[in-house]
Amino acid sequence: MQHFDVIIVGAGSMGMAAGYYVAKQGVRTLLIDSHDPPHTMGSHHGDTRIIRHAYGEGKQYVPLALRSQELWRQLEEASGDKLFVQTGVLTAGPHNQPFIQEVKESAERYSLPLEILSPKEVHERWSGIQLPDDFSACLEPTSGVLYPEKCISAYRQLAVASGATLLTDTRVIALEPDSDGVIVQTANEHYTAGKVLLSAGAWNPALLASLGLSVPLAPTRKTVAWFGADEELYSSDRFPAFIFNLGDSSYYGFPSFDQAGVKIGRHDGGQMIDPDHLERTFGTYLSDEGDVRSFLETYMPQAAGPLCSGRVCIYTMTPDEHFVVDRHPDYPQIVIAAGFSGHGFKFASAIGEATSQWLVEGASTLDLSMFSLSRFS
Ligand SMILES: Cc1cc2nc3c(=O)[nH]c(=O)nc-3n(C[C@H](O)[C@H](O)[C@H](O)COP(=O)(O)OP(=O)(O)OC[C@H]3O[C@@H](n4cnc5c(N)ncnc54)[C@H](O)[C@@H]3O)c2cc1C
Repeated sequence: MQHFDVIIVGAGSMGMAAGYYVAKQGVRTLLIDSHDPPHTMGSHHGDTRIIRHAYGEGKQYVPLALRSQELWRQLEEASGDKLFVQTGVLTAGPHNQPFIQEVKESAERYSLPLEILSPKEVHERWSGIQLPDDFSACLEPTSGVLYPEKCISAYRQLAVASGATLLTDTRVIALEPDSDGVIVQTANEHYTAGKVLLSAGAWNPALLASLGLSVPLAPTRKTVAWFGADEELYSSDRFPAFIFNLGDSSYYGFPSFDQAGVKIGRHDGGQMIDPDHLERTFGTYLSDEGDVRSFLETYMPQAAGPLCSGRVCIYTMTPDEHFVVDRHPDYPQIVIAAGFSGHGFKFASAIGEATSQWLVEGASTLDLSMFSLSRFS
């Protein structure tokens, strides 16, 4: 039985980042993943993720977003890889939508650059967008798009270079806390550690249940699709990433990178699933293509060309769509990073750093109390 100071269970978005920041401190670190990250089985594939700073889900996220952006910049520097493109992010929706209001208030509170635009001004700047007169819109020019697979690969390479051990294609089947720490069981081996980070994405609910903790986490099937688009209007050197909050539904999307087409997804809805029995074929449900095509036909008609490709991915939702980052109430040697509710990737760098500080030093510089488990009790 091999002993480590810290074991990371699930080396995806959050886990791989945390593994790097732990290993960098000279701590003996083991990362274990069921697959070979980055991969297409969890929540981090699909080429692109939006990062925004002025935050519609709550201005309390802004310090976390700003720290994340700074850490992504540092990761680019350390790895030499291009991980972020400053496309800007356009938020739009009917007047008085709370989401847009919160974006504006976040920008004001933290003095973030934000351009408020009328539907006419939006169309003048990007003629590929048509908004009804009763919409408002705002552009955050300093935000943009991350390449998630490249981010995870960069953290992986640096974690291993910092001395971490990475076990791929190895599933953790049980965690047994004891007075010395935790025994981590895979199909063939046992490992021990003083501290464990549980960051298994859509598989967290089952592992948490085996530790006697019932957390309201709902793995949900989500799809994204790429559509043939007029490159003159929608290519990434001239068109922003976007979020449309329409009240009863919300959509997000990306300009066309390398002529791959405009990528678009619907944020709300989806089917609750067991991640081991996920229907991974895009197009199984008519809504996989239908919802996003009808959005494009309405607001970005020259981007509603032929379907180029589609992917199935997983959100792990909490009831309030805020994350769970906390210690296990009975076993404080186990730190939990879960329930990222479809908007977690942008924060993986700062969540990785903060959880590494919990694991190594016992406390983090960033306040993560809004993600505590006690809000569900
Ligand atoms: C379609 C889609 C679009 C999104 N768009 C955005 C966006 O624009 N901006 C944004 O910020 N966020 C976005 N998100 C959300 C973001 O990608 C997720 O919140 C984030 O990737 C979750 O990270 P994670 O570490 O929890 O999960 P993952 O990255 O999936 O990592 C979990 C890892 O745990 C491993 N694992 C699971 N079980 C075990 C086990 N028993 N033993 C060992 N390893 C195990 C898995 O193999 C996996 O590698 C999007 C998500 C999806 C699906």
